[in-house]
Amino acid sequence: MGPIPFNNSYARLPAQLYTRLEPTAVSAPTLIRANHALARQLGIDADWLQSDQGIATIAGNHIPAGAEPLAAVYSGHQFGSYNPQLGDGRALLLGEVIDVNGQRRDIQLKGSGPTPYSRGGDGRSPLGPVIREYIVSEAMHALGVPTTRALAAVTTGDAVMRDTVLPGAVLARVAASHIRIGTFQFFAASKDSEALKSLVEHCLQRHYPQQAASDNPALALLQAVIRAQARLISRWQLLGFIHGVMNTDNMLIGGETVDYGPCAFMDEFDPAKVFSSIDRGGRYAYRNQPGIAHWNLAVLAQALLPLLHDGQEQAVALAQEAVDEFPALFEAAHLQGLADKLGVAEVSEADKPLVDELFQLMSDEHTDFTLTFRRLYDHANNPQAQVGQWFELPDSFIPWLSRWRKRLETDQLTAETREQRMRRANPALIPRNHKVEAVIRAAEDENDLAPFNAMVERLADPFELDSQSAEYILPPRPEEAVTRTFC
Ligand code: AMP
Ligand code: MG
Ligand code: MG
Repeated sequence: MGPIPFNNSYARLPAQLYTRLEPTAVSAPTLIRANHALARQLGIDADWLQSDQGIATIAGNHIPAGAEPLAAVYSGHQFGSYNPQLGDGRALLLGEVIDVNGQRRDIQLKGSGPTPYSRGGDGRSPLGPVIREYIVSEAMHALGVPTTRALAAVTTGDAVMRDTVLPGAVLARVAASHIRIGTFQFFAASKDSEALKSLVEHCLQRHYPQQAASDNPALALLQAVIRAQARLISRWQLLGFIHGVMNTDNMLIGGETVDYGPCAFMDEFDPAKVFSSIDRGGRYAYRNQPGIAHWNLAVLAQALLPLLHDGQEQAVALAQEAVDEFPALFEAAHLQGLADKLGVAEVSEADKPLVDELFQLMSDEHTDFTLTFRRLYDHANNPQAQVGQWFELPDSFIPWLSRWRKRLETDQLTAETREQRMRRANPALIPRNHKVEAVIRAAEDENDLAPFNAMVERLADPFELDSQSAEYILPPRPEEAVTRTFC
């Protein structure tokens, strides 16, 4: 066996799901960073990953034993319009491994050269987006959000042409799978029920094995994906994360966050916040994310219709019933998350005015989303290290705070449980967009990776404050603010 213990399954599925091809070699691969902890989880020797052969593998210059590289085909709705032909245009699935927990994981190279699905693109990725994805996806993992991961990143030594000439890079991305709503859409559009059936079976086995024995597998899968996405999107909302490009090809069946192109965490609370330069209508604004997820899930249901029931009317009824569950599932997950943020066992109907008034105050006062909630953690638990040295709530919060304190007095949570739940729900550190941009500039303009490495390392523990936190804790000063992201 080679250095990566491959155990491939997607390559065994019907051939119309992908095109086999090898990555395109690059000039001068150089390691940016290797994720030792993740490598160990995947059964990969971290020393090998950093060796010349490991680096050549990430760059696409070496194909290790057991790899079966392929580009997957999919389609998808981009900003609401159907694009019938998408696919891995600048990525290749190298293969899969079974991790130490017995979970199957994809290893994908992103930026590995053109494929039949490149649609005129160069198949490459500039360094900036690779750095953004590495930082934000690893931070999301540390924050407890289901996400694809960063195994390693390399620079290629080749230039990438965009508006300017940029250094090229490749990211090795790990996911429970890269199967998307758009994967199902592609085979629904071509009325390929063989492919659809094998995808359903594959996804159930892989992501939702408890549902695999269902007598209606397509319905079981649809319901499981709806539940997973309701939980996922609630996590985004509770952290102020704005994905930015919630196209149906960027929503994974396995329920992990994918595609960190134009994403950003909001600083001051603004429900209408948008960062992405291409999202001109604000379709993917913060407050729209749950509704867009609902819409995307209806698209998945539509793609599954022929498998849900032999009768068209019955299939539509089953699909509608499943999709209609989403708002309540989202609301339940969101309310439990809010309860954890506020330090109460649950948010009841009677608590809703208290919650609404908090968000109204945050909006009126433009307070920082992350620090507002972290300050509530300080107030309720009085820990040793507090964000209070950097951030205080405005005086207009005082009446609200005293009502909330009264509410805490009658709550059933023990002090210990409250402290634990509030700390995990109210991180001190997020990958602030202006810091991400500064790290990218240092790497691109000065070839300096020290800020990148320091940020990745510090954000691996976003719940504790220490002497290294000051650098990352504060929102941008007005002149530091980054209002637009580009993918
Ligand atoms: P995204 O907006 O990142 O989800 O990408 C949408 C589609 O465009 C996917 O099929 C990508 O593979 C493809 N794509 C994005 N950038 C490139 C590129 N530089 N070369 C080829 N295909 C690309
Ligand atoms: Mg994408
Ligand atoms: Mg993208």
